Order: sequence, then structure tokens, then C-alpha cells
Amino acid sequence: MPSNSLLYFITNIIKFEGFKAKNYHFITDDELLIELEKKENLAICPHCNKQTDKIHQSHRYRVRDIPLSSYDVFLLVNRRQFRCKNCRKVFSEELSFVKKRRTYTKRLAKKVIKEVLETDVVNAGKRNRITPAEIDTILKELEADCLQENRQT
Ligand SMILES: [Zn+2]
Repeated sequence: MPSNSLLYFITNIIKFEGFKAKNYHFITDDELLIELEKKENLAICPHCNKQTDKIHQSHRYRVRDIPLSSYDVFLLVNRRQFRCKNCRKVFSEELSFVKKRRTYTKRLAKKVIKEVLETDVVNAGKRNRITPAEIDTILKELEADCLQENRQT
């Protein structure tokens, strides 16, 4: 296990409210995987708005984040499913920094889109160390989000 002070340092660099770095390791020489943990074991049920701490199951997966210096950063995220103690329904918790079913953080998507607009797909890809195909996915998902928002309003 890495030292606490180093994990504290990583937690401060990552800056996701309510989350701390639990562990980290290098996948390759230039790829860093940071394991995140939510500080609180509580969630609000979206069906009845009551608080619950009963975890039904956990789903771990990798999410791409903005690079740190010359390192590609991946986050090991744990999206927990809770069972509401009040209405008994199962729900997945919302994570502030990544949308459901997405494999990259919101801030990475924002950064990439901004740089595509300022330069082009090739340069934005190079700067963020992601492929043009991945940028294509980000843009298509953004378009889908916009269309859905239009439908809701
Ligand atoms: Zn409920």
C-alpha cells in the first residue's frame, strides 16, 4: 500500500468532492490507475428521497481522466447500487464527475471539445493522449445528450 501522505496528495490533485484516492498503481510506464473511494456510505433514493446506507452491489470500472503531466490517468470507479430501506427499490448512485455508461470524466470531455474547437481532432487527441476514434465517440455522445435535453425542455 502506498503511504497515506501520497494518497492524500493524489486526492488533492484529483479534486473530486467527496472522494479520496484509496490506492494507485502504474498500468504501464506512462499510465496511472487511481482507485477512488467515496468518503460517505450514504445515498439518497431517487424514488422516495430517503437516505439509505444499504449497499446492494458494487460495480467497478475504469474511467479515463485528464492527463497528469506526461501520464495518462485512469480512475477505478466504484458505482454502488443501493437498496432503499424505505421503498425497497434498487438504484445506482450518481457520480458527480462521470455520466452513467460513460468511460471518460466530464472534465475530460469538456477539455477535449474545447481543444477540438480551438485546433482540430488530431491536435486535441495528441494533447490529451486519446485517439481520434475516442474523440468521435465523445462528440457523438455529446450530440445525443443535446438532443435528449431538447426533448425534455
Ligand atoms: Zn426509496
